[in-house]
Amino acid sequence: MTRAYNFNAGPAAIPLEVLQQAQEQFVDFQGAGMSIMEMSHRGAIYEGVHNEAQSLMRELFGIPDNYHVLFLQGGASTQFAMLPMNLLQSGKPAAYVQTGAWADKAIKEAKLIGETVIAASTASDNYMRVPELSEIQVPANASYVHMTSNETIGGTQFQSFPATGDVPLVADMSSDILSRPIDISKFGVIYAGAQKNLGPSGVTVVIIRDDLAKDNPKTIPAMFRYETHAKSNSLYNTPPSFSIYMMNLVLKWIKAKGGVAQIEQFNRDKTKLIYDAIDGSGGFYTGCAQPQSRSVMNITFRLGSEELEKQFIKESEKEGFVGLKGHRDVGGLRASTYNAVPLESCQALAQFMVDFQKRNG
Ligand SMILES: *Cc1c(COP(=O)(O)O)cnc(C)c1O
Repeated sequence: MTRAYNFNAGPAAIPLEVLQQAQEQFVDFQGAGMSIMEMSHRGAIYEGVHNEAQSLMRELFGIPDNYHVLFLQGGASTQFAMLPMNLLQSGKPAAYVQTGAWADKAIKEAKLIGETVIAASTASDNYMRVPELSEIQVPANASYVHMTSNETIGGTQFQSFPATGDVPLVADMSSDILSRPIDISKFGVIYAGAQKNLGPSGVTVVIIRDDLAKDNPKTIPAMFRYETHAKSNSLYNTPPSFSIYMMNLVLKWIKAKGGVAQIEQFNRDKTKLIYDAIDGSGGFYTGCAQPQSRSVMNITFRLGSEELEKQFIKESEKEGFVGLKGHRDVGGLRASTYNAVPLESCQALAQFMVDFQKRNG
């Protein structure tokens, strides 16, 4: 069996151990004579998996008791709309920190629901940096302030988060959830699609403080109200049971690796190999993001010409690398180094970069 050096941006690498475990359990789960996908979501076996995934998420991410952990569908893109539907009150604008394509999409959806303001923007820097916390201006009457903790496309990441007082802080953590320890108590809502750092697509995790998941406007259809899912333990309707099962296996894998602090160290070690290859290339490779804003999850870089970039991708594919083409909006190259990407993949990429430079530099 050959496994690709998988640097896909999402869906992305899943730990081999997890895939093998799922394979073993695929046809007959816990002796039930059927797969987890074929079972009632109201049965004891599925509920055990569902609740285990929730409590592991709480344990690994240090989520306080006054937060719900919801498993929803529709991806982070649905949260772009669901968030303002539930929390954007009239006369109280929603503040957005504009750091890239994903923030822009979130803002666009919020504008359909109510008033928005830009709390900070790095558009004039082509989104190649995140703002300093001191640049973020939140109106005192804001309904919430929204940040994208890691900008998957530009390759930038916040290293710290502002204290926002009574204004709930909301973060789209789709591409860096569980990649590092976070003080959850700073946040009102955290959401993330699973397909980058948590497992397969199909489930969206929403971590929401109790007071924000109740008394949501009654005019919102049931499926779009946080309260509906908070009250029913995310079992109001059929959950994406297989995706949640897979996520549970990934959470157990993180725990076995030593937890999130240990994972953060692994991630930093992995990423350093590739940033060092960029910085040590004498300008052959250039990093896109400004150094102090560089992401540990998505490394964006360029070569001297688009021709050379095409050649890099072509040759890398021949060597078993996958997913190194940059997002179509920004071009260039991107290596996504999520939790499940092994060190060996990053070592191989760093070596390939050095070799490619020798041949073409
Ligand atoms: C991938 C991504 C999204 C979109 O997620 P979907 O689950 O496809 O809707 C949103 N925000 C960020 C930061 C992302 O990386």
